[in-house]
Amino acid sequence: MTNPLYDTLLGHRAKSAAPLLHLTDGRTLSYADMAGMAARFAGLLAAQGLAKGDRLAMQCPKSPEAFALYLACLQSGVIFLPLNTAYTPDEIAYFVGDATPGIVVADPASEAALAPICTDAGATLLTLDADGGGSFAEAAADVPPRTEVTVCGTDDLACFLYTSGTTGRSKGAMLTQGNLLSNAEVLTETWRFTEDDVLLHALPIFHAHGLFVACNVTLVAGGSMIWLPGFSVEAVLDALPRATAMMGVPTFYTRLLDAPGFTREVAGHMRLFTSGSAPLLAETHERFSARTGHAILERYGMTETGMNTSNPYDGDRRAGTVGFPLTGTELRIIDEKTGEEVPRGETGMIEVRGPNVFKGYWQMPEKTAEELREDGFFITGDLGRIDADGYVTIVGREKDLIISGGYNIYPKEVEQLLDEQPGIVESAVIGAPHPDFGEGVVAVLVAAADPAPDLETIRAEVALKLANYKRPKQYVTVAELPRNTMGKVQKNVLRDTYADLFA
Ligand code: ATP
Ligand code: MG
Repeated sequence: MTNPLYDTLLGHRAKSAAPLLHLTDGRTLSYADMAGMAARFAGLLAAQGLAKGDRLAMQCPKSPEAFALYLACLQSGVIFLPLNTAYTPDEIAYFVGDATPGIVVADPASEAALAPICTDAGATLLTLDADGGGSFAEAAADVPPRTEVTVCGTDDLACFLYTSGTTGRSKGAMLTQGNLLSNAEVLTETWRFTEDDVLLHALPIFHAHGLFVACNVTLVAGGSMIWLPGFSVEAVLDALPRATAMMGVPTFYTRLLDAPGFTREVAGHMRLFTSGSAPLLAETHERFSARTGHAILERYGMTETGMNTSNPYDGDRRAGTVGFPLTGTELRIIDEKTGEEVPRGETGMIEVRGPNVFKGYWQMPEKTAEELREDGFFITGDLGRIDADGYVTIVGREKDLIISGGYNIYPKEVEQLLDEQPGIVESAVIGAPHPDFGEGVVAVLVAAADPAPDLETIRAEVALKLANYKRPKQYVTVAELPRNTMGKVQKNVLRDTYADLFA
């Protein structure tokens, strides 16, 4: 193959009239339509002098054109760098300065703010709006489409994807063609995607979940997607009867469960719901099953590795677990003090190795050496355990581990107990600096309006169930937990907010 990733995802169907995108305005774009659009955009990349190994950054609203730009980069061997649409120009300055893309394609609304940043970084700034218009599309119409496909190998870089920045500054993960291809192929197989599938696509495409999992799996399978510009309960309820599968973050599912119109009938045509990017509460899993008869399939992955584990397609999808390592991916649990694997059932650092594991962080050799072992295992930063049946459970992030008076406290254990209490919608447990204990446990609670929680009863329940050192020393209530666009709770924000609580 000339270009394994492009050829597998699109090239061999470049002339196919089969549907790829079903749009909200009623139009359908075929594989051939998307390949044609990608070829036009590839023509512009070539005319602008972008060649294999150069970078293109995109911060655009989700549209078929934005998706075609990704495909055009794959065709051209240009490294595609999608950026969260929520990033401010200051944040974009960091990514553009770091990755030095030749072209930045942005929403026209941010053109003025990004212009000086791009000038400083020596990048050409072009625009693409939600309807596929803008200077990028206009310029592409003036150049001949590019029919050639750049020769690439599986070891060549395909994308840079910056981590979500939940635990610190975002790092640019260098992902190869082989990383993306192997992961898309194994997921297609594991989740039984075929050309008959119609995936309801409501995720953003600047993240691994929406782009590499949802889009790449559909393309490998030859299926199609109902392409929503974003998640809205109404649009999802409207589309579900025409879809066979949906990939979501946990908040999609809690919001659907809040809608009375979300019924067993509406979900009756579906064969699969998957969840990831953040932990799915066991309670959400159970409510979803009770409402629809579908067991949500939870899986676990990250920017640096794509997906690592999945609950089984056939067999028991266990709430609160992320299932088994994917075929080809090794997963082990390490005691960080000894560097040895822990006995089954015990908690330690999750490490993974396989064709899905990235090449390293862009221009961060020290960080890469810290997290990527010489034998190829990636130190994920997540703590977990493997039970007797082989199911993996994520206990939390190492950086969220609380050490109080010399004892380790896993926030999830405390959060699970708090979440069960009457009047608690959800909780986040963090450590705040404490003069005597090093860190003190703080419970941040989102209270229900009715019944309102009774803190004294909760304290008594916690005292009954948890060892003294695990009990929160302070309880605070908030209207909602700070979350990023993928629904991840930003504990670093909470730690900053409550840094002086015990001072
Ligand atoms: P940063 O690395 O910059 O701090 P991040 O780790 O949040 O940010 P991502 O790569 O987007 O950036 O997220 C991967 C992380 O998301 C995983 O390491 C894990 O902590 C969490 N995660 C993903 N899927 C699940 C899941 N099913 N259950 C629990 N946590 C999950
Ligand atoms: Mg991370």
